[in-house]
Amino acid sequence: MAPIRQKLLGWYDKTARDLPWRHTRDPYAVWVSEVMLQQTRVETVIPYFQRFLKSFPTPHALAEADEDTVLSHWSGLGYYRRARLLHAGVREVVAQYGGTVPEDGEARRALPGVGRYTAGAIGSIAFDKEEPIVDGNVTRVLARLLRVKTPVGTSATTNRLWEEAARLVPGERPGDFNQALMELGATLCTPKQPRCESCPVAQECAAFAHGEVDTLPVPRARKAPTEVKLAAVVATRGRGADREVWLVKGDQPLFGGLWGLPMAQGSARTALREAGLQARLGSEPVGEVEHVLTHRRLRIDLYRASAARGKESGTRRLFTANDLETVGISTLTKKLLASTLRG
Ligand code: SF4
Repeated sequence: MAPIRQKLLGWYDKTARDLPWRHTRDPYAVWVSEVMLQQTRVETVIPYFQRFLKSFPTPHALAEADEDTVLSHWSGLGYYRRARLLHAGVREVVAQYGGTVPEDGEARRALPGVGRYTAGAIGSIAFDKEEPIVDGNVTRVLARLLRVKTPVGTSATTNRLWEEAARLVPGERPGDFNQALMELGATLCTPKQPRCESCPVAQECAAFAHGEVDTLPVPRARKAPTEVKLAAVVATRGRGADREVWLVKGDQPLFGGLWGLPMAQGSARTALREAGLQARLGSEPVGEVEHVLTHRRLRIDLYRASAARGKESGTRRLFTANDLETVGISTLTKKLLASTLRG
């Protein structure tokens, strides 16, 4: 396997993209970048990463920030659970380890929100440990390089790929080796039309040798997303520039702990009732928004309600248009508000 390592590292040294998190080996910064990069494109992450580290340059700075402030820095990146777990994990590092990310792999994996991928990324990149990582890019590269024919996403394939990655990682520069595998998947060994003619390990690639590049990795059969009908209410108080809108903060996975509009499956009246609000509710929806998640397609009828009354609490508050600029609200909430708050 040595040729794969040498060739990949040589190629990586020459061609790796210049990304802000590649200028640091600070385990905290590596951690932030890896969490942001999960399920989000590199170009999208760059400004978020820079802004986040400017506001929270150290584990102590992040640990001391309140959740709303942290989530407002994440607003637009999606998958807000990641931000809350990162926050919890970093608070643990401050409480348990005085703000120093533990070098010990087991201690790292025990932190909230740190699975084997994030632990391996921090371990190999920041601490030079021979710890494997397998993400979507590595999955595709290894499935092709090693001609893995079982469907990806099944536990058998996942276990096999982690074992293969663990077999490959020992040797010089484990962090760069892991990053080179990911970089190969991101730039040449892409899902469609991989550029095998430029690939540094084409000679070692079993899928290439067997003409199976286009059929690997084998996808897992997917179920069609289920459609869910929801009603959301823009419940306001006051008029014109003084108008305020009620938002609620629930444990709805949809909002990941961010502030969102009262929303329920069923009627707008149910949404208001569940939010603990009374209001003059419009009889017809004022719009419809579609929002597609991995397994669900949401169709949301949007209602307006005026003269809305309720009791403010930690999970129910009135916001002005200015407040909305600074508080953590989800992309879906922004989308819903944009279509109704004007006028
Ligand atoms: Fe991927 Fe093609 Fe390189 Fe094989 S030869 S690793 S399929 S880019």
